[in-house]
Amino acid sequence: MILIDTHSHVYSTDFGEGRQEMLARAAEAGVKTILMPAIDRSTHGLMLDTEKDNPGLCLSMIGLHPCSVREDFEDELDAIEQYLDQRAFHGIGETGLDFYWDLSFTGQQYIAFKKQADWAIAFKKPLVIHSRNSTDESIEVVREKQNGGLTGVFHCFSGTVEQARQVIDLGFYLGIGGVLTFKNSGLDKVVKELGTDRLVLETDAPYLAPTPYRGKQNEPAYLPLIAQKLADIFEQPIETIAEKTTANAKELFGL
Ligand SMILES: [Zn+2]
Repeated sequence: MILIDTHSHVYSTDFGEGRQEMLARAAEAGVKTILMPAIDRSTHGLMLDTEKDNPGLCLSMIGLHPCSVREDFEDELDAIEQYLDQRAFHGIGETGLDFYWDLSFTGQQYIAFKKQADWAIAFKKPLVIHSRNSTDESIEVVREKQNGGLTGVFHCFSGTVEQARQVIDLGFYLGIGGVLTFKNSGLDKVVKELGTDRLVLETDAPYLAPTPYRGKQNEPAYLPLIAQKLADIFEQPIETIAEKTTANAKELFGL
């Protein structure tokens, strides 16, 4: 069984000295590729080092997380532009809108999001979208930017069937993570309506660990728990789910 973790911050300092053991556990669990979404300048270096230390396993994306959009967001965007001039990345993000933590830079979040959508189109790379408490607003931005050449993923999707259909109609995928395993999330019912054609797996490590590790530090080795939950929902063998979601991730990220 081969799995792809499409969204994992394995470069996080939370993993400290244990990073390489954690990555070895991931490979042992069948997770052969880990896509790393960027956050901001404070961690781009760590991400690139992690990629260098783990060639073929950890792949870098580049972008500015909406929670890191502050007064200096234009400097952050300049830094991304410089990286994009230097080398290829596997995606743009994570970007998007976060209306949960802090509403003081909402306008700037929109500017940064749209700029990153333009880069995704220009560089023909998938756009990785964070849409916490902002699913409808994020869908609106994608609708505005969609010119036929934009694709990507709504990471940690936890919206309604109706919202999911809009995301899919816009040519995007749904990133399914630990929330699927939480009691009463309701995401299982949403996902069942959609089928597996547009689903990709993610952990969002070190956050959002799936049951039974909920509340603890998450890591890519837990990805099979999410695949197993999908297998239960669709009443299919886990191998079938692994094959389908891995094919989806390869298609989306051009792997
Ligand atoms: Zn993330």
